[in-house]
Order: sequence, then structure tokens, then C-alpha cells
Amino acid sequence: MNTPRLADFRRIVVKVGSSLLVDANAGNCDESWLAALTADLAALYDDRRNLIVVSSGAIALGRAVLKLPNGPLKLEDSQAAAAVGQIALARTWTEALSRHHITAGQVLVTLGDTEERRRYLNARSTIDKLLEWRAVPVINENDTVATSEIRYGDNDRLAARVATMMSADLLVLLSDVDGLYDAPPDTVPTARHLPLVERITPAIEAMAGAAGSELSRGGMQTKLEAAKIAIAAGTHMVIASGRLEHPLRAIAEGARCTWFLAAGNPVTARKKWIAGSLEPKGTLTIDAGAVAALRRGNSLLPVGVVRVDGGFARGDAVIIRGPDGAEIGRGLCAYDADDAQKIKGRSSTDIASILGFNGRAEIVHRDNLVVGLA
Ligand code: GLU
Repeated sequence: MNTPRLADFRRIVVKVGSSLLVDANAGNCDESWLAALTADLAALYDDRRNLIVVSSGAIALGRAVLKLPNGPLKLEDSQAAAAVGQIALARTWTEALSRHHITAGQVLVTLGDTEERRRYLNARSTIDKLLEWRAVPVINENDTVATSEIRYGDNDRLAARVATMMSADLLVLLSDVDGLYDAPPDTVPTARHLPLVERITPAIEAMAGAAGSELSRGGMQTKLEAAKIAIAAGTHMVIASGRLEHPLRAIAEGARCTWFLAAGNPVTARKKWIAGSLEPKGTLTIDAGAVAALRRGNSLLPVGVVRVDGGFARGDAVIIRGPDGAEIGRGLCAYDADDAQKIKGRSSTDIASILGFNGRAEIVHRDNLVVGLA
């Protein structure tokens, strides 16, 4: 199989590790490296690609500003350092992107925001809105509030969850290594580089040592975890060296890197997830006009819903049935059962006056809808 080209992708998540962005000795951002990276991002942006940046560096920058001693930090110390460093990190990205007339939007998430469906839907809508406005979301873990149980702790897996949540077709992990080797390349001179991984076998997992560099938490193991999350959801992933000047252009020009190829495309995988892996909690019965609209690929609006059954929460999966009771499809409902009852048969413009808040116009958005099941 040929390895893909960056130009093949429409929605790209780029993860930048602390050790690339933060100069360990000076304790500040490596501005010239960031300028080259943002020039690469701007080229993709100008080519109408949707870009999302997942950037680490809050803790590293915070510890420099606070002049904390070297060595491991206690959890509360790193959280407090992140509170200081995240301001600097956001400013750095805003300034770097604005030189290319690109607006940045800061999004801080925790594990729960991507695992719990209601919060997942909400985070997804916010990031979608930023993309619709042609802003570049710059995402990091909300380190200051995430307790040890609800922390990702590494941005490789966070980036993979963001990429799958946003149905990205590519996740780029910029790292201090240029991909996966069958042995540690710094100690084994004969180590062989793998340009393409089509399946993550136990043999591949055994190749990933636990080593990480001084500033980044994620070694090759967390990158393989990220690859598993990504490819299961249909998102391709590439591990590439961020040490090169213009690291994204370098990938496009064929620099050494490791590709992990997903089998399906993201929409199919996401729809499989909606169709197959969730337990439907209720049913929406819709009229003939709405059935026709759904079959044309549209979202389901409240006006087309004639009946609501079951007790479901916002973001739960529901079955959608036609007037004769036949299953038309399944989807994630943007309202809970009580609110769905209240707005069924009504125009979306009435939602605010009926519910007292300005909810989404679609009761099931087409991105969260699978039509045409048996
Ligand atoms: N969220 C952490 C930070 O910004 C980094 C986690 C990681 O590098 O994986 O400092």
C-alpha cells in the first residue's frame, strides 16, 4: 500500500509535545521553530484544510516562569504550574497564528469531556463552531482541575480522542523521534525504522519502549495507545519528527516517519459506533416528510417528530422509527426525553421559548445519525 500524502486529508489534528515547543534550558518557547511550524499550518489552512492543534507545554512553561527546581513535580505543583504556563502557551499560539491572519481559540478539556457522551457532544459542537468560523482550536488538557482519576496525563491519547471526536481523517504526532523502530534507535545502532504499520500486533507493541524525553510524558507506548484509538475510529495517524525545520512540509516531502493506516474512513467508523456499540435508550417516531429528509442526508428537526418514548438523557442513542413503526435509523439525541417531548412537532425557532434555553435546532444532527439500518 502506498503511504498517503498530507494533501489527501481534509481535517487534520496536529499534536505538539512540550519538548519541541519549550526550550528546556531557556525555559521559554522556541520561537523560530514555532514560526516555521505555523508557516506549515498556514499553508494547509490556506488550502482550506480544517486544522486543530493539541499543544502541550503548560507545565513546562509554568515551571520556568515560577523558577521551580528541576525534577519531578507533585501533582498539585504541576497543576499550579499549568495554571501559570497555560496563559503563556495560549498567548504564544495566538501570536504565532495571528502572524498568518489565523484566529486561535483555546479549548481546555479533561478525560470526562471526551468520554461522557453529553459532554462529548458539547465539546464537539464548540470545536465544530470554531472550525466553521475558520478559527484554529488550540487544545490542551485542563491540567488545573483534572484530578488523577479524570486526567489523561498525556497529550498523545488526548489528541487521539480529540481527533476521533472531531472525525478528523489524520492525526499528526510531532515527536522528538521520527517514528517507530524495532529497537531503541539511540542505543541500538542497527535499529530498523518502520515506515508503515497496518496493524498493531503484540510484536509492534513490544517494540515500543517506555522511554520518553525529559519534558514529555508520552513515550512510544502512549503513541501506540493513541494509534489504537485513532485507527479503531477510522482516523489515520503519523508519528513524525518535530525536530526538523518545517516539520509538516517535511512529511509532505517524504521525510522519514511512521504511518498507521486506518481501514475505513472516519464517518463510517463513527457511524458504526453509533449504530453498533451503544444501547438505544428510547425511540423517536417521525412523520413521512422527516423520513424522506433523513434519507436525503438531512438532520432530524423537532418538527418531524410525532412521538417520543423511553427515558433518555441528552447524548443518548435513540432508535428512529417511521410512521409505520419501521426502523429508519439510530442517532444520538441532542435533548433529553422530557425536553424532546416538549419540542416534538414544533418549529426549531420555538425551542428557546418552550424550553427557556437556546438549544440546538436539530434534535438529532446528521453527524450523529445513521440512516438505513435493516
Ligand atoms: N498537558 C500537559 C502540559 O501542557 C502536557 C501533557 C503531555 O505532554 O503529554 O504541560
